[in-house]
Amino acid sequence: MARFIPEPYRIKMVENVKMTTREEREEALKRAHYNMFRLRSEDVYVDFTTDSGTNAMSDQQWSAMMLGDEAYAGGRSYFKLIQAAEDIFQYEYFQPVHQGRAAEKVLFGAFLKPGKFALANLFFDTTRAHVELAGARCLEACNPQAADTQLRAPFKGNMDIERLEAVILEKGPENVGMVVMTITNNSAGGQPVSLQNMRETAKVCRKYNIHLNIDAARYAENAMFVKLREPECKDWSIKRIIREFFTLADTFTMSAKKDAIVNMGGLIGVKDANAPYIDRIKANCISFEGFLTYGGLNGRDLAALAVGLYEGMDEDWLRYRLGTMEYFGSRLDELGVPYQSPPGGHGIFLDAAKFYPQIPYTEYPAQVLAVELYREAGTRTSEIGSYMLGNDPDTGAQMRSMNEFTRLAIPRRVYTQSHYDMVIDSIAQVWKHREPMKRGYRITWEPPILRHFQASLEPITE
Ligand SMILES: *Cc1c(COP(=O)(O)O)cnc(C)c1O
Repeated sequence: MARFIPEPYRIKMVENVKMTTREEREEALKRAHYNMFRLRSEDVYVDFTTDSGTNAMSDQQWSAMMLGDEAYAGGRSYFKLIQAAEDIFQYEYFQPVHQGRAAEKVLFGAFLKPGKFALANLFFDTTRAHVELAGARCLEACNPQAADTQLRAPFKGNMDIERLEAVILEKGPENVGMVVMTITNNSAGGQPVSLQNMRETAKVCRKYNIHLNIDAARYAENAMFVKLREPECKDWSIKRIIREFFTLADTFTMSAKKDAIVNMGGLIGVKDANAPYIDRIKANCISFEGFLTYGGLNGRDLAALAVGLYEGMDEDWLRYRLGTMEYFGSRLDELGVPYQSPPGGHGIFLDAAKFYPQIPYTEYPAQVLAVELYREAGTRTSEIGSYMLGNDPDTGAQMRSMNEFTRLAIPRRVYTQSHYDMVIDSIAQVWKHREPMKRGYRITWEPPILRHFQASLEPITE
């Protein structure tokens, strides 16, 4: 079994949480219409819904916030952030925005419109939504290894280069508005992308003159995987790996709520300061987010982000971070519980299709598992499967996800080993009692886009 790597930090402030009874949780589920996003945080003991914006900031970040410059224009905190971003990513233009989806909204329209396609190693939910909101359509070319959760391969998040090129030729290179490389590949289970694969993807993009954007939420976890698994990079610093990755793309969109360890923030990066679309980014940002030097954030948020970009790529931190996932995964291995293995960088993705092979994707087996985990011990998780994927924007038919995952996304610097052990024990219980589950859930109401956040569900009873 993997050893639990001790935390490279200690606790200075705590947040008390409420313990609930099974009866209280049952009532809470009904009130939430079985939608995890509609539960109250108060009714949750361990919250693994997401690692986005749920991180604990450091004393360095909190003290940087006190120095935040709240000037409308040209604030000191803005320049601190730009300095950090330039140092790490070596791009020529950066635009702070309030979160990742804002980066997508501000940037994507420059490349996508009706009739165009965006191609990715897999889109995450909001990224998919912003491609569709721009009128374009999503196509994917993910490493087929990602579909087999029991296959331990080092870079299951990779782009399938052959498929990428085949799809470009099928749709016509002039119709592919951009290629998106998601690092790490969230929908595939937080699986990393290799530097070699990034190079090959960039080569294809150059060959057909297609814009390459990195969806960069987990830039640091991905770099650590590359260091550990790609022999060429084993002696490289994390910063060098990040730079090597980013120099291969034209732009990045980043949710800073993940690896940059802040509670709110996002960033757009553009490699070439003379890129014609920078004017459009600026115009969109000023209209939708705010003036260029704050981008919808407080000055203090920019200050915390400037510190967080570095803390997120600290090697001791990343060793602990990936080590936590290894520990979690190896305990599940002992129990025989199926998950996307090896574990990804930001969480454990339980293979709900293997928990409940009797429940079809149209009844959302990963939602069934999410509800059971909450019932059992008050753990909140999220469904990353057909329920999240939603309906085809053209036909309205339920789409089928490559995997039916129940994601335990681990917030950064928030929980301790005993929380993980408690959750693992509860997973063991749910695994043991999986067979009597015969039916899943039906949606009784859903909005047209990003339905999983708001929809109402009910259990299907024959
Ligand atoms: C979280 C995330 C986004 C969206 O970012 P928000 O900050 O939640 O708006 C986009 N892409 C990926 C891969 C993400 O994980």
